[in-house]
Amino acid sequence: MKYRLILFALHLSLLASAQKKPVDTVNNPLVARRITIDTREFETFVKDAQPQQLRELAEFLKIPSVSSVPAHKNDMVTAAEWLAKKLKTIGMTQTEVVATAGHPIVFSKWNKATGKPTVLIYGHYDVQPVKENEWKTPPFVATTSNERIYARGAADDKGGLMIPIWAVEGILKRESSLPVNLVFLFDGEEEKGSPNFKKFLQTHQSLLKVDLAYNADGMQFNDSTGSIWMSLRGSIAVEFEVRTANTDAHSGIYGGKTPNAAKAAAQIIASFYTPDDKIAIEHFYDRVLPLSKSEQTMITKVPNDEKKDKNDLGTTAETGDAAFSPLERLWYRPTLEVTGVWGGYTAEEGFANIIPGSVHVRLNCRTVADQNGVEITRLIKQHVSKHSPKGVTVTFKDFESYSTPIKFPAAGAPFQLAYDVLATVYKKPPLLTAIGGSIGALTDIKEVLGVYTYSFGFQQGDENFHAPNEFVRIADIEKGQKAYYVLLKHIGNEWGK
Ligand SMILES: [Zn+2]
Repeated sequence: MKYRLILFALHLSLLASAQKKPVDTVNNPLVARRITIDTREFETFVKDAQPQQLRELAEFLKIPSVSSVPAHKNDMVTAAEWLAKKLKTIGMTQTEVVATAGHPIVFSKWNKATGKPTVLIYGHYDVQPVKENEWKTPPFVATTSNERIYARGAADDKGGLMIPIWAVEGILKRESSLPVNLVFLFDGEEEKGSPNFKKFLQTHQSLLKVDLAYNADGMQFNDSTGSIWMSLRGSIAVEFEVRTANTDAHSGIYGGKTPNAAKAAAQIIASFYTPDDKIAIEHFYDRVLPLSKSEQTMITKVPNDEKKDKNDLGTTAETGDAAFSPLERLWYRPTLEVTGVWGGYTAEEGFANIIPGSVHVRLNCRTVADQNGVEITRLIKQHVSKHSPKGVTVTFKDFESYSTPIKFPAAGAPFQLAYDVLATVYKKPPLLTAIGGSIGALTDIKEVLGVYTYSFGFQQGDENFHAPNEFVRIADIEKGQKAYYVLLKHIGNEWGK
């Protein structure tokens, strides 16, 4: 019996070590190739086009395409059609607004570069919801101030996706053809985890034979440094209701013998964490890959500016599992955040001496390779059920929004071409970074179309994505077009060599 137990334990540990093999996504040393593409005339063209571009961006930003709020369903269609109209006017060969089970996807291609590769450019036209009273200017009116455009989606990702469209428009206007074939895919559900994107890819695979892919929903490191993401975390969302009674009860008549839903919810939430800020959900970390050597090296090259976080957010401390550095925690470790708790009497005015009968808790996890969102959701549900105090009934709502984490290799032509271009545009090599956020569609593109979608974006981390007063810098819109111009030319020149 004892012998069998030892064998079983040995088997388990072998299984664990087999799962935990680190993936080397960053190979050193990297060398950027020199590019000699003259951009001066194109830059002048972009400068001249700027007033018109900013008018177009303002029109696009005016459409409140909030994908997660059902009341905006028609706005989603309006935004998709606005984009399609723009793509038709710049001379794309074929442009379609494709219906899905959710919001439409905008597909557009240009295919007249015989013998040249096909480049996919991904972006999304949906935006996050707004809390209007927290905005200094109306969120759906583009407001220019300080060389910046303020509006929801200005950076994430309406501004982001217009950059390659304008770059392509510029090339077509000046040269009547493109150096490569092109497919634009603009998602309407990125902010919801792209639940219908994979099905779209599977159904339209014949339209989507592409050789390489870039993501216009990416970021620069800062004004003077480009970056390419080497990984993204995944994301899941779960909600549960903690119910202890049919109704809120009088705390004088029932208090002392009646279970309190708010207290029970607090106890459940507390059970999620260990005193040293690890997540206490059983088996939560089982599939988390340890960092490879090169990922560790990559992290040492990227500064973590603790002061900046404190300034941006008004925080007074950095928290999290101290066994890992802040960037390791942000990029390669999973999280479980409580994103909302409500119940009881919460009106701003007055107070009520009650025992809440029901409290809702909403959670979000950022998952990392190789965690599985469905499995993590199941583990959370099991944990909540197991840790619910006496007198509590828990019901779950599963949002079925599972973005899968992804790692990208720092090797291969699509990576190298982007690396060359960013090194040229910024006059120094880009930083390889990662991102704690999620873009589920990029995993789908890899799985269905077989290509890695490298980030090639010009937003900056302080631009209040998902928060009040989102903005984009006008200078980055210009710089981004130049970079896309060089990228498409460079691919046209070098692909297959
Ligand atoms: Zn985005």
